[in-house]
Amino acid sequence: MRRKQKFNEQVRTMKVMHGWLPVKHNLGKHTKDGITQCPGCPCEEETFLHMYECPHPLMQQAVTDALEQIHKLGCAAKIPRIVLDKFIQCIEAGINGSKVDSTTTGSLSLRKAVEHQNEIGNDKLLQGFLAKTWADAIGEWTKDKTQHKITFLLRQLWDTLFTRVWDTRNFILHHTPNCYRATEGLNLAERLRWYRENKNEVLAQSDRRLAEHDEAEIERMGRLTKRKWVRQLDKLRDIYRQECKQLEKGQSSVRQFLTVLPNVATVREVPRTAKSNVKRPNRRFKQSTLSFKTAPQSEHTSSLKQRTGIDVSKLPLSQMSQWMQKKLPKWIRDRVKKSENRKVYTYQAKVEGVGEATPPPPNQGGSPPRGPPEPD
Ligand SMILES: [Zn+2]
Repeated sequence: MRRKQKFNEQVRTMKVMHGWLPVKHNLGKHTKDGITQCPGCPCEEETFLHMYECPHPLMQQAVTDALEQIHKLGCAAKIPRIVLDKFIQCIEAGINGSKVDSTTTGSLSLRKAVEHQNEIGNDKLLQGFLAKTWADAIGEWTKDKTQHKITFLLRQLWDTLFTRVWDTRNFILHHTPNCYRATEGLNLAERLRWYRENKNEVLAQSDRRLAEHDEAEIERMGRLTKRKWVRQLDKLRDIYRQECKQLEKGQSSVRQFLTVLPNVATVREVPRTAKSNVKRPNRRFKQSTLSFKTAPQSEHTSSLKQRTGIDVSKLPLSQMSQWMQKKLPKWIRDRVKKSENRKVYTYQAKVEGVGEATPPPPNQGGSPPRGPPEPD
């Protein structure tokens, strides 16, 4: 039957069969607050089975309506009345946690079906585990499409009974004032009080002011606000715990790293190196210290400026790391290479006594050096 279902229906029935539904019993295991309160009643453990036996009027109504509908649709689908009644009795027994008396039934195959279902567990019937002998019981009264009728019963368990109960439960949980919300609110208020009393032990000094909620403020807060505060304080506590561990090992923490920032910012005020300030006779040599004023600033350059306060565009290339240099546009790197070559050439020329007027080799063709390409 599951093969004919849509994907989302397959996922849902799989969760029903294996008990993976997000009922509070399952969710409580994986959340920090660990609340397993039923939204509909004071019961503290909302399991899959509890949804069917919850005393909330809407839940009770949902189960009753669903069983009536199954009976009605079963009759319309020509399932033998005697089998249908026993089947519904088994469902009710599963909800109540009891067993169905099979001795009262006259038919042998039906008695076997009820016995087998008792062995499997009537509560398992709610999850979709039917005894195979239900087919024999139906077959005894009618030979017409027995397997289809079994599939029909199974579909009613999932599509009619479970869907109604689940939708009602979700309606109570998300759209009405309920026991779960009340319990969660109390729990969160308790945790905020705990943080207020233990902030000196579990939070860093700079974060302790965030845990100073007085009683009136906690009362005034909504549930969702409390939840956000608790999440925030949990994060800060984890960070502080991690920092304490690192300090014990002698490692530096992020805060220590961040104190370096003012020193980095002072780099900006360091004057340019003497080498780049030397006046050179040849005008072209001024280009050996890069002037990036016309160069389009890359995103990296601007973000680096924001983070460190260093304007990369004003740094000479010799002060840049290899990594920074690679980030530069290609035309700038080529230009630097050319200017460095010229520098070497002129130095050799001076040693050999050649006049400075000799044009450098890269420009022998007479064409002026190309300027930077226009940015797009
Ligand atoms: Zn309940």
